Amino acid sequence: SSATDTIRATLFPGDGIGPEIAESVKQVFRTAEVPIEWEEHYVGDQVDPRTQSFLTWESLESVRRNRVGLKGPMATPIGKGHRSLNLTLRKELNLYANVRPCNSLPGYKTRYDDVNLITIRENTEGEYSGLEHQVVRGVVESLKIITRQASLRVAEYAFHYAKTHGRERVSAIHKANIMQKTDGLFLKCCREVAEKYPEIAYEEVVIDNCCMMLVKNPALFDVLVMPNLYGDIISDLCAGLIGGLGLTPSCNIGEGGIALAEAVHGSAPDIAGKNMANPTALLLSSVSMLRHLNLHDKADRIQDAILNTIAEGKYRTADLGGTSTTTDFTKAICDHL
Ligand code: NAD
Repeated sequence: SSATDTIRATLFPGDGIGPEIAESVKQVFRTAEVPIEWEEHYVGDQVDPRTQSFLTWESLESVRRNRVGLKGPMATPIGKGHRSLNLTLRKELNLYANVRPCNSLPGYKTRYDDVNLITIRENTEGEYSGLEHQVVRGVVESLKIITRQASLRVAEYAFHYAKTHGRERVSAIHKANIMQKTDGLFLKCCREVAEKYPEIAYEEVVIDNCCMMLVKNPALFDVLVMPNLYGDIISDLCAGLIGGLGLTPSCNIGEGGIALAEAVHGSAPDIAGKNMANPTALLLSSVSMLRHLNLHDKADRIQDAILNTIAEGKYRTADLGGTSTTTDFTKAICDHL
């Protein structure tokens, strides 16, 4: 679509600090005149029998129709008899890959200045298949499911991503020396896909060695693809390399080209309602949503405004050592725009 058409996108402000940081995104988009019309959906206060969770059927239909959306954090409700919100979203929308770019933010000093890598996590199976039971008292079992179909799908996504984003190398992260069948199949699928992309270098790195290399020299990596559990852990490790949860965006890719961008962090109940939250993670997620829509011009402008505001150092939220409120910080970004 051309940049002048209005595009409808689903917005889940979410819980806790969610509505505060979602407001920040809406304000920045208005200022940058992004041609997006939000369809806002809140998590319901009772279980919707059609989804068996607090997510309404209408909100899922909205994402399916628009194929693009932005999600704030959702608190996991206490109690049983319904599915977790994130699990429902993943299953219902078949969100099979979680893509997390990790880039050093110029002007916000951490141990490393040159982090520029992407983690791509398989999002539907592995140890997170939810298949656990007690064998006998004192012995429990959890099934790790790896399928050819899901492994090929995420590997294909990773190589396609590398190719279309000017990346040079894909590293498959595994523990196939021990998990010979499961991780072995995952690697086999990655190798098959790698053969179709001769222009992209391919390597396999054992997860423990990968952790050591990442903390020693993150510049050794480019695109990393891995099964669910490893992805959960490694992507948080990478978030730590660049300054923490307030800064890291992600995007969930689903069947049929659905893209649901989200901040990595949770609802931060300790600071909710206090105008203290750092909206950067959700803002950068919204930038990745714009890139998915090929609105690169708007994405660049907003990203520059965010990075310049942080680099300037005058307005920073408490998690980055500053004293600015969410609204002050947002206003500073809008002034940069
Ligand atoms: P959390 O990410 O909400 O908070 C961890 C710490 O980081 C807190 O001290 C918090 O104040 C801080 N923090 C997080 N985001 C911040 C931001 N944008 N700006 C400044 N500080 C920030 O993790 P938690 O406390 O373990 O979880 C709280 C709730 O969120 C739980 O109900 C959990 O299930 C849910 N959760 C949801 C998602 C999601 O929707 N994707 C992810 C993680 C946790």
